[in-house]
Amino acid sequence: MAMHLADRVSATEISGIRKVFDLAAKLKDPVNLSIGQPDFDVPAEVRQAAAAAIESKQNSYTQTQGSAALRAALLAHLGGRYGEKELLVTSAVTGGLVLAYLALLNPGDEILIPDPYFVMYKQLALMIGAKPVYYDTYPDWKVDSKKIESLITDRTRAIVIGSPSNPTGVVYSRDELAAISEVLKRHDLVAISDEIYDLFAYDTAFCSLGDLYDNTLVLRGFSKSHAMTGWRVGYAAGPEELLQAMTKFQQFTYVCAPSICQAATIEAIKTDMSRYADEYCKKRDKIYEGLVSAGYDVQKPGGAFYIFPKVPWGNDSSFVETCIANNLLVIPGSVFSEKKTHFRISYAASNETIDRGIEILKRLREQPADHKTGSCGCGCSCGN
Ligand code: PLP
Repeated sequence: MAMHLADRVSATEISGIRKVFDLAAKLKDPVNLSIGQPDFDVPAEVRQAAAAAIESKQNSYTQTQGSAALRAALLAHLGGRYGEKELLVTSAVTGGLVLAYLALLNPGDEILIPDPYFVMYKQLALMIGAKPVYYDTYPDWKVDSKKIESLITDRTRAIVIGSPSNPTGVVYSRDELAAISEVLKRHDLVAISDEIYDLFAYDTAFCSLGDLYDNTLVLRGFSKSHAMTGWRVGYAAGPEELLQAMTKFQQFTYVCAPSICQAATIEAIKTDMSRYADEYCKKRDKIYEGLVSAGYDVQKPGGAFYIFPKVPWGNDSSFVETCIANNLLVIPGSVFSEKKTHFRISYAASNETIDRGIEILKRLREQPADHKTGSCGCGCSCGN
């Protein structure tokens, strides 16, 4: 007999990224441009600080809101921005998102999220019975503040803004964020600003929505900037009432971010990672120029380490299946979108891997014969 599971199990979709990883497991030495984490390691001094934290017996729970030492270091780092007193150390940005959704949304409430989106923005809403309402940013990933305003109803409780974005790499300018904040002010909406890629803004200085709009929950972390994806440390800063509610839920869920990692994060804050941002900016140029010269329809990303081109033929799954059959791992766009027209490349990879990837994509630019005739059987509309 099937187990009786809660409705939220069927309401939440299985991550499409997992399907790609299952296919990838069968490949020998694939050209992997699918990974959402840096290709450099955690800095040595941060690794040593974690080892020292274990040896000096910092192995117990910390306070729910984070160790006093880390909170002081983070507050000093922020220099009084986003509220002086309240700051919550979270189990990475994921922890911050979960707690924010729990604190802000009742079942049936609406949350505005971008399309394309980072997967969690949608699935967390579905998990708790809230309704994701998409603001479409195709084809150039820009946010139209009028479009946002037209989607606001009396059930809208919050909006998520991700800049620099996964999967598009778009970075919003101060003017664009100011236009959005005017709308949010008029409707007194809470903004969740996912700033996990703040280090990786290449063309303009990174601007936080939190600097323009008080009712912003700023979420940041160390997974991407310091390659600490497995360490699970981030922080939330912003409106006091919201942070208190999130702290209450942290007590009954994550309890605290891992104590050892919190101790080492104090060292991470002191470590300058800007040379990695410089390297990734060059990789951005390499992949963008490679795709343009191969004839792909693509926007130049301003940050993060992703690029989101249009598939040259077929739909996202037929094209990505062909990429995988040619030893190249990329992610179908519908993992991050309600549309099936694009695919995501992560260029957090060696230059050699990026070059090999561009070579394969050049070859695959032309539609293969079976897709032209529709005999591919992949369910795409390419032959019609
Ligand atoms: N937000 C975005 C936009 C991401 O791309 C990711 C990870 O891929 C996360 C949040 C989650 O990161 P963390 O490891 O801090 O939970």
